Formats: sequence, C-alpha cells, structure tokens
Amino acid sequence: VPAQTDPLTQEFWERSNARELVIQRCTECATFYHPPVALCPNDCSASLVFESVSGSGHVYAFSIIHDTRSPAFDQFTPYVHATVTLDDAPAVIMTTNLPGVPLSDVAIGMAVEVDFEEIAPGILIPQFTSSPPMVRG
Ligand SMILES: [Zn+2]
Repeated sequence: VPAQTDPLTQEFWERSNARELVIQRCTECATFYHPPVALCPNDCSASLVFESVSGSGHVYAFSIIHDTRSPAFDQFTPYVHATVTLDDAPAVIMTTNLPGVPLSDVAIGMAVEVDFEEIAPGILIPQFTSSPPMVRG
C-alpha cells in the first residue's frame, strides 16, 4: 500500500482514491512529470499543479514475469509488468499489471484505459486495462 501522506504525492493518491487520474504539470513550461517532482527539472519552477488526464494510452513495453524467487508474488505468477504512455501526456510513462487482460492478448502499442484497483479499503491505485475494457470473469 503506497504511503499517502507525502506532501509531494498526496494529491495524486487522494484523487486516485476518487477514481481520477492526475499528472503533475509545470505551469511555466507545461511539461508533465510522473512521479511528481518538487521543482521542474526544465526551469526550476516550483509552480507545479496536478492536472486531470483522460487515462487513455498505449502499451510501451511489457514483460511477463514467471520468476518465483519472491514468495510474496507466487500467487500472481505469471503476471504482466507493463509500461504505458498516456495520450494526454506522451512523455509520461506509468506502470501497470494490465489486470483482466489475458497474457496472450498483451501487445506493444495496444490501446489501454485507466482503471482503478482497490488494494486496501478506500485505497485505489491506477492500473490500465485494454480499451474497450475486457469483460472480467
Ligand atoms: Zn517547467
């Protein structure tokens, strides 16, 4: 469960818990950042705000994990670890497990949409699933 009390990321988590995907953006140069930063690396501006994005994107890369050396992940193997680019913020790359997407359907470039997974009561994390979402059984 991510720590949701860090002032740098607190708004991201609070809005995720409300099923809204936001990405930090510099108001001076309009560059998006994820994970959030304290100062814009481009211009050292501290004027950074969280901006709502659509949550549409595409798979940039992925791996299918079969490694069972970590007992904590045994129940999930094999699983996908994918990176996704956002259509509204193409330089931003987010990670996901593509829940609900069959391993055989995962492909670089596939369209995805954000979905929020409740990993603890009231704690939601952004994940991505195929677009349109696949029926979950
Ligand atoms: Zn900037």
